[in-house]
Amino acid sequence: MKLSEKIISGKRPYIVAGPCSAESEEQVMRVCKEIASTHSAQLLRAGIWKPRTRPDSFEGLGEKALPWIVNAGKETGLPTTVEVANKLHVEQALKAGVDVLWIGARTTVNPFAVQEIADALRGSDISIMIKNPVNPDVQLWMGAFERFAKVGITDLSAIHRGFSIYNHPKYRNVPNWELPILFKENMPEIPLICDPSHITGNRELLFEVSQKAMDLNFEGLMIETHLDPDNAWSDAAQQITPERLKNILDSLVLRTPELNTGVASQIDEIRMKVSTLDDRLFDLLSERMLLSEGVGKLKRENNITILQQEHWSNLIQKRLNKSDEYTLSRAFVRQLMDAIHQESIRHQTAIMNPEKKI
Ligand code: PEP
Ligand code: MN
Repeated sequence: MKLSEKIISGKRPYIVAGPCSAESEEQVMRVCKEIASTHSAQLLRAGIWKPRTRPDSFEGLGEKALPWIVNAGKETGLPTTVEVANKLHVEQALKAGVDVLWIGARTTVNPFAVQEIADALRGSDISIMIKNPVNPDVQLWMGAFERFAKVGITDLSAIHRGFSIYNHPKYRNVPNWELPILFKENMPEIPLICDPSHITGNRELLFEVSQKAMDLNFEGLMIETHLDPDNAWSDAAQQITPERLKNILDSLVLRTPELNTGVASQIDEIRMKVSTLDDRLFDLLSERMLLSEGVGKLKRENNITILQQEHWSNLIQKRLNKSDEYTLSRAFVRQLMDAIHQESIRHQTAIMNPEKKI
């Protein structure tokens, strides 16, 4: 059976676990055996070639580490996966007998690299997992799937690992959950695995993000697991012991996307009220834009710019100050006001600049 079918039809969540990097034969074997002995994973991972931000970081042990993960797979009876980033990695991983290849975020971002890997695999029946690109671009992520599909590879799964961000107070890579949801909307047949390790960069947040992924109906989780996480050669802060992995998995609450008949009518009743409120919201927004157009007309007649920075800053501040009262997050109030403002500018621009033939 294809990996993607197994992930979709098997017990949820499908778990991929193992160290960020293979460090020694013994390290890989021991951690994989522990993971397997508690039935905490269905697929074992280990990084062999590590794409690192700075060249002096540990960049993986390369080809010599491949048999370590393959042997751990044989010993535990579990399939194995490694990250590949170019044609040579693909050839070496396949020769060593790795079952599943994954494409890392820093590779998905580069269509030339993805194409090189796809071409190296033309006609093969290997299973591939594709992480989202480092930048928040769902089209680019989907493009990678299309490149593999075009060379006849049909066993494809997706891994959501979050998106690069400068200096975020909470996450190493922001989850932007709306993007994997958009991905699923466009490619509903592809199973979606969440990688809370690389999203959080922090083991204390793993449970929270894993639970959220389950509540968003992801099919699986990829969690970096190490016997001595604090002394791991890469990503030390986010790795956890097999014991903690088991605790997290045991603590997850798994909910179903199906509405059972008992509650369906109650939910429907509330949803109808929500829909009526949405109607009103949009009627109000539409009315608001008409007022903006009126302002636009006066600005045009008096040669005044669309934006008065101070007025706009005051409007924003007034709403932000009330965010607690509205029980809305400041971030949401900001986003909503920005969206309303952009639309208002669009309406005013149309009033100011009626189409001219020059
Ligand atoms: C990894 O899984 O160890 C890794 C390098 O991840 P990413 O491609 O998400 O950075
Ligand atoms: Mn890692």
